[in-house]
This record gives sequence, C-alpha cells and structure tokens, in this order.
Amino acid sequence: MEAISLPSTNPSFSVRILSSSSFSFRQRFAVSSSPFNPWRSRPRLRARPARSAVAVQKSEHDVVVVGAGIVGLAVARQLLLSSDLSVAVVDAAVPCSGATGAGQGYIWTVHKTPGSETWDLTLRSKQLWEELAESIKNQGRDPAEALGWKKTGSLLVGRTLEESLALEERVRLLNQAGLRAEYLSASSLKLEEPALEIGKEGGAAFVPDDCQIDASQTVSFIEEGNKQFTCQGRYVEFYNDPALSLLRSEHGQTVEGVQTSKNNLYAKRAVVIAAGAWSGPLMKSLLIQPNILPDVPVKPRKGYLLVLENFKKIQLNHGVMEAGYTDHQTATLSNGSFTSEADENDQNISSISMTATLDVRGNLLVGSSRQFIGFNKEMDESIVQRIWDRAGEYFPALKSHNIKEDKNIRIGHRPYMPDGKPVIGPVPALQNLFLATGHEGSGLSMALGTAEMVADMILGNSETIDRTPYSVQGRFS
Ligand SMILES: Cc1cc2nc3c(=O)[nH]c(=O)nc-3n(C[C@H](O)[C@H](O)[C@H](O)COP(=O)(O)OP(=O)(O)OC[C@H]3O[C@@H](n4cnc5c(N)ncnc54)[C@H](O)[C@@H]3O)c2cc1C
Repeated sequence: MEAISLPSTNPSFSVRILSSSSFSFRQRFAVSSSPFNPWRSRPRLRARPARSAVAVQKSEHDVVVVGAGIVGLAVARQLLLSSDLSVAVVDAAVPCSGATGAGQGYIWTVHKTPGSETWDLTLRSKQLWEELAESIKNQGRDPAEALGWKKTGSLLVGRTLEESLALEERVRLLNQAGLRAEYLSASSLKLEEPALEIGKEGGAAFVPDDCQIDASQTVSFIEEGNKQFTCQGRYVEFYNDPALSLLRSEHGQTVEGVQTSKNNLYAKRAVVIAAGAWSGPLMKSLLIQPNILPDVPVKPRKGYLLVLENFKKIQLNHGVMEAGYTDHQTATLSNGSFTSEADENDQNISSISMTATLDVRGNLLVGSSRQFIGFNKEMDESIVQRIWDRAGEYFPALKSHNIKEDKNIRIGHRPYMPDGKPVIGPVPALQNLFLATGHEGSGLSMALGTAEMVADMILGNSETIDRTPYSVQGRFS
C-alpha cells in the first residue's frame, strides 16, 4: 500500500471574508469529525505514517467524498438516497468555505445556450432542483425556508441594438428548445422592472420559470438530510481535516481511500474528488508519479458578490443579468475580450459584469467579478467599487448609495476549466477514483445533475443524460 502526497495546506483556509449570513451558518456547523465504523484490520492497506506524530484514526466506508461544497454534499446526498452505501465527507475546512459560500444562487437557463455541451446537464439539474422544491412542499415545509427557494424568473438585459437582436435570437432558441421565454422590448421591460434603465434600443430575454436558491440555506438543508443517515451508520463528516494523500493498492492502480491530517478513510467502492478549485492542485500532486494522470487544469477564478442587507432603495421583481455576462463567463475560453487566459492571468485583468438578485430575506445581491489571481482572498476595494458602478449603470437609483459603507462582501474561487465544461467521471488510470469539479459559475445550478451522474456511475446505473462531454478520458493532454 502506498500513500501519494497531496497539497497539505491551502493559504486561503486561514483568511476568510464572510457575509454575516455565511458566518452564522458556519458557527452552526461546528467541527464534526468523530471516527465512523470501527476499523477492520486490513494489513495490506496500511498507509505510511502521517507526517505529524498525532495518532491517525482509521475507518472504512463505501464512498469517501473529498470536499463539502455544494457538489460534494450533493453527491453524498444522492448516494445516501439512491443506494444503501455508506458515505464519508471530508473537508479541509467546513461546508461553504469554498465557492459555494459566495454563490449568488441563480438556477437559470436564460444565459445558457440550447444545444451547447452543458445544456443537457443544466436542464436536468434544474429539473432536479424543481423536484426537490416540490417534494419539500409536499412534505408540508416551505422551500423558501428550506432552500431559500424563489421562482423569480430571470432577465438577461441588453442596452444596444446589437444586444437586443442577439437576445431576440436567444429567445427564439430557448423557445425552440421547449422553454417558456419571451423577448421584452424596452417599454415592456419597464413594466416588469421599473428600476432598470436600459435605454430605448435595449431589450431583454425573459425566462419566467427560472429560479434561485440560497447556497448557505441549501447546504444546511442537504447536510441535515445527510445526517439523518448517521444513526444507520451510513454517513459521517470529517471537517477541518484536509485530504493529504490517496491511499492506493500495492500495485498502485486502485485507489483505496484518502489519508487526511487526522484520519485514514478507506473507501471500498469509490473516492470522489469534489474539492472545487482546489481539485486541480490536489490532482496535480498525483503527477509526482509521471504518466499516471493527465493534468486536470482546474484553476481558481476569484469572484466578489456584494450583499446589501434588507435593501429598500430599489424594488427588484426578477433576477437580472447583463447580456455581456455570457461573454464575461467565457471570455478566456474562446476569443472574447481577452486575448488569452495567460494575458488575464499575467496582467491580473479582472472582468466585471452586472448580476442582481433579491434573496428570500430581502437582501440585494449584486455581482460579480472574475479574476485569475490564484487563491488570494484579500478584498480589493477598487473591484467592489467597479461592481457597484456597473450596477449603477443599470439601476441609477443605486448611485446615491455609498457602497463603502457596506462591508458585506462574499469572496469565492470558482473552479474554472479552460474548455468551459465541468469534469465529471472516473479517472482512467486509477480505479475507483472519480472527479466532480470545474463548474465555474454554474456549480450551484448543476450540482444536483452532477450528483446524479456521479452516483449513477458509482452504482453502475445507465445514464440519464450523455456523460461524454464531461469525461476525463481523452480530454486533457
Ligand atoms: C461570486 C460568485 C457567485 C456565484 N454565483 C453562482 C450562481 O448564482 N449560480 C451558480 O450556479 N453558481 C454560482 N457560482 C459558482 C458556484 O459557487 C461554484 O461553481 C460552486 O460553488 C462550486 O462548488 P464545489 O462544491 O465544486 O466547490 P467549493 O464550494 O469551492 O467546495 C470545495 C470544497 O473543497 C474543500 N477542499 C479544498 N481542498 C481540500 C482538501 N485538500 N481536502 C478536503 N477538502 C478540501 C474546500 O474547503 C471546499 O469546502 C458563483 C461563484 C462565485 C464566486
């Protein structure tokens, strides 16, 4: 048995800028790392001693999930609900400490392109979110309370004739794909969203059935559900306990578990790496042994979201996003406004595009920025100001509010993939190892579809949607 070292520390774990809502969420989730299932002796699998002198606890599970963001927790949930397997979730910190805690929460189709490679996953995932909200309602609970659920409808807005024509075409494609979508001229839009100013030539694509969640509430709900399986011996969490290495069989071809800072967690069926933007460095360390794995180029893309608590200066009836967001998200993936990803990285170019939503508590959420600056978590006031100024171009009433008085800023690192698609599936060279990451700005939207896909793969079920676009095999050099 062999232990392969993974990065042991992450600089961002010690510095966090949190909204007050995410802070109270984290306080509710105190460390929970009690060992689970008494370790059964398996001398063949004994790991090398951990680096520290602290005694390592051993436990055995069917599946070990690395990462307690929305993706990892949703994968655990799906396995618990659809099988009798036992699941352990391990996180370097606590839930919502990654990108999930910064997420705005839109589960939208308006900015997605029918027929694109991520379209089916987007639709399937949205359907699963809607079914979840419905099932909560059927149990006599309020999905708004459980998930922060709102069916607000989404508006993708343009201010120029060119953008308006593109939005009209988008509506046509969305309709063709079977979605309820409508093009709104500037005057119709004024009736829907009076605070929005887009000029006479502007317009919007409107998808009335798009919805939103609150990431912290939803993670809390999923965790509560997962914990119901604890008494059956099927679920356990190991928090503040980073994964350090993969435990592998003698010949190295099968992954048999995860070594963390305090535990050796053996996995009989699968290890799932769902560590968001950290999945890249985690997987990279496997390259210590050349030729085992292709480089999985997931990298952090920093983003800010401004949270204005109980904000009353504007009335927002729907979720709003500027048309340029679609280029903004993919700017470095194709020939957008940046010449290359390296350019953006080297010059620390940040891009801003306006998104605005109102959450179930009445907080106005205004985003967002995109930046390649590693795992840096410092707050740059100039970016906050630029996000606010951009929002003011669309909502003039915001201009009179001094954003410097609001320090409620969420910062997260989206797991960015250069080809614009998440990576979901088995790692070819290492049996029992699965990846579920790279969702960039759509991880909340795609979490349930991703979880279903991963669980189906582990359980050997047939596919609900085509898995090919997301596979690891043959995708990276
Ligand atoms: C400002 C902003 C707004 C966004 N808005 C939206 C939105 O409205 N809709 C949407 O769909 N998406 C949105 N996103 C994107 C979305 O938040 C992400 O795609 C999603 O949260 C990724 O989830 P994840 O579980 O893959 O990663 P994360 O949430 O980053 O979770 C990864 C976890 O892995 C853990 N980890 C790291 N290293 C280790 C290790 N060695 N051992 C164990 N654990 C480890 C981390 O602590 C972390 O908890 C937004 C993102 C940002 C930044």
